[in-house]
Amino acid sequence: MKGLEVELVERRAKYLLLATGSGSIIIHLGMSGSLRILNQNVPPHQHDHVDIVFDGGICLRYRDPRRFGCILWSRHPLHHRLLRHLGPEPLGDEFDGAYLHRVAYRRPGPVKHLLMNAGLVSGIGNIYANEALFSAGIHPLRSANRISVERYQRLAEEVKRVLSNAISAGGTTLRDFQKADGNPGYFGLSLQIYGREGEPCPSCSRPIRRRMTQQRSTYYCVQCQR
Ligand SMILES: [Zn+2]
Repeated sequence: MKGLEVELVERRAKYLLLATGSGSIIIHLGMSGSLRILNQNVPPHQHDHVDIVFDGGICLRYRDPRRFGCILWSRHPLHHRLLRHLGPEPLGDEFDGAYLHRVAYRRPGPVKHLLMNAGLVSGIGNIYANEALFSAGIHPLRSANRISVERYQRLAEEVKRVLSNAISAGGTTLRDFQKADGNPGYFGLSLQIYGREGEPCPSCSRPIRRRMTQQRSTYYCVQCQR
């Protein structure tokens, strides 16, 4: 990469792309990785693994305590094996009710699994799938191919709203991933249904239920979600 210029910084799903004239650096932060811009003279911490040094002694420093992340080089990053099968971005124009309705055709599995299938739409995690389905009034275990295009339109709008709100609130963090009481400690983010088993539904006050599907917790209200 010596002598190359970073021309564009992009993101695809959880991959950060630093595009140069002859290829891209692909960065995945894993569970706990971070990037900081520092003077290259700042001594590295024990979990700092990579410095990308720019003109003027500024560096982009990669820290990854748990080592689940990666840094790769690819001439055609969107065709890289890790990226080429990813579905559209949920905040992009391609993702809407018509798209969901189309990909749900002949998929009798739960709609929540469809939302979390990265090959169909990339980047809706478990928390946000639960929240968007609640806001859209759709039961998470409802068969994906038995939902109207109108309801999918509402769901696509709720996915975009939930994700946008989470980004505004600073997203989630691993730092206090689980508080002492076992509830997720995502600060800055008010969750309506996730992690609230047994608590009253914010709309109808019936107790929120939880079920495990695909080894993930699924929260729902039997009254408000059909
Ligand atoms: Zn309810």
